[in-house]
Amino acid sequence: MSIEETVTRTVADVEITDEYRVALRTRKKLTDLSPDAAMALADELAEVAIEAANGLREDAAARGIASISHGFDGGPVHPECRDGKCRNCDGRTLNGRDEMVPCTHSCHVQAVAS
Ligand SMILES: [Zn+2]
Ligand SMILES: [Zn+2]
Repeated sequence: MSIEETVTRTVADVEITDEYRVALRTRKKLTDLSPDAAMALADELAEVAIEAANGLREDAAARGIASISHGFDGGPVHPECRDGKCRNCDGRTLNGRDEMVPCTHSCHVQAVAS
């Protein structure tokens, strides 16, 4: 009577890296696979590749939204203008570095135009 055992060994490991790249780790430089294993690896690679591509796209979209909303920040606005009390604003305010700069509220732009 012979006693047999099936050893499960990892021949290849597929995962997404932090940079949304597909990392394929094999035990050896040359890995010969059974047709079934090769098929499974191909499926796994395709699955992870799609996941990585989606992750990359979502990440880019999130960055795009962040940069667009940052673009709406505009320049410094006087606190009175921010509160809607434009009459109390003298048209100058402090920026983030404590420097006197023109208030960029739209009320001043209209005043100059008219
Ligand atoms: Zn204003
Ligand atoms: Zn103002």
